Amino acid sequence: MPLLSRRRAMTRGASLLGLSSLSGCAGETLLQPDLDADVRSLPVIRARTDRIDRITVCLRPFRAAGPRLDVEQVERKTVVHNYGHGGSGWSLSWGSAKLAVERALPVSSRNIGVIGCGAIGLTTAIVAQQAGAQVTIYAEALPPFVRSARASGSWTPSSRIARKDAVTPEFATRWESMARYSFSCYQNLQGLPGHPVEWDTFYGLHSREPSAPHTDPIGFASLDDRIQDIEPQGNLIRINNSRLPYSEVHKKPNLIFNVTGYADYLLRQFLERGGRIKILTLHHPSDLTALPEPVFINCTGYGARALWSDNTIVPIRGQIAWLIPQPEALCSMSFGNVYVVSRRDGIVIQWMGTDMGFGYDNTDEKPDLTEARRGVSIINGLYRNMGYNI
Ligand SMILES: Cc1cc2nc3c(=O)[nH]c(=O)nc-3n(C[C@H](O)[C@H](O)[C@H](O)COP(=O)(O)OP(=O)(O)OC[C@H]3O[C@@H](n4cnc5c(N)ncnc54)[C@H](O)[C@@H]3O)c2cc1C
Repeated sequence: MPLLSRRRAMTRGASLLGLSSLSGCAGETLLQPDLDADVRSLPVIRARTDRIDRITVCLRPFRAAGPRLDVEQVERKTVVHNYGHGGSGWSLSWGSAKLAVERALPVSSRNIGVIGCGAIGLTTAIVAQQAGAQVTIYAEALPPFVRSARASGSWTPSSRIARKDAVTPEFATRWESMARYSFSCYQNLQGLPGHPVEWDTFYGLHSREPSAPHTDPIGFASLDDRIQDIEPQGNLIRINNSRLPYSEVHKKPNLIFNVTGYADYLLRQFLERGGRIKILTLHHPSDLTALPEPVFINCTGYGARALWSDNTIVPIRGQIAWLIPQPEALCSMSFGNVYVVSRRDGIVIQWMGTDMGFGYDNTDEKPDLTEARRGVSIINGLYRNMGYNI
């Protein structure tokens, strides 16, 4: 297959997983000769169904037009919205927080209320503190009992973030600034005790088994080309050894979030800076009038659908089967529609379905054991075909 069409094929697979495109960073993706030695370094994940320690389900808060960031008046209170980040909430959080806080500061730079304590609420609260505000978070639930805690934990800034036909040039520019700002924040969080944020290696394994092309019935926007210059692109490695179950590997550095430790780090940062947390459930926007702050930033994620009667939010169900952590085998990989992130706090095994519409408009948050086993078995088969007895 010529390089260009090969690259396109791999790019389709990568965007299905919400990974950045493969085309080169200020240049070309390198097509290398067979580098068996390189591929033998593939960490061994003990993908066995008896190592599943839990199954979690989360609903991505998807909006065709992208996250909501406009400002609204609720009686005497000003509300800046910051919700609807689809499959990109962790990735875009700092940049989105910056935009939301900039909109809240003209109303009050002293007292800001943040509603919600997931990826978006926590980062928004910290950015508001950095701007000098006294911040109170109001939330029904805190980590680990928020949907953000059930994410794969990868840098996926354009995963299910908007629909192609609804993206405006203004949104694309805003998305780019959010992604660039967030990425720079993540570089400043490297090397912390416990490694809440770190780089691992991603292996995109291209199966030798023929598979149906991945379709995208929803028409998700793909914006990654705009930020190609900020992340390492890696190499495309051709595998000549026909006994291996994959014919090509896209190997690249991958930014990941160890979500358990990272959320704990953010909570501590917020509290150490004098932040306050009040547990409460808002039933209607007018409930805000009983709270003291003049301005609130609404970071309620999928909860905004009910609270703000916002039917533009469409749930996209995603399930993870978690395997017992293997600190000796930290890496990410994709193979046969399964996405794996071997993190310090658990191994994510996510079966991505047969097309990109998988989970769209599905509100079912019950774990599906069959789906969980399917993903784990595919990765089990990969290692067995490589000769491992895992
Ligand atoms: C399977 C899966 C994998 C994912 N992987 C990634 C990934 O690798 N990288 C990435 O960047 N993103 C990923 N995402 C997307 C990411 O998880 C979401 O974008 C993110 O969780 C949204 O965060 P949030 O803070 O807006 O919402 P939430 O985490 O849902 O937080 C909402 C907060 O608001 C509170 N709240 C809601 N309603 C009310 C109310 N009425 N009153 C008071 N409080 C309220 C909640 O209690 C909670 O504190 C993934 C999603 C799924 C489903």
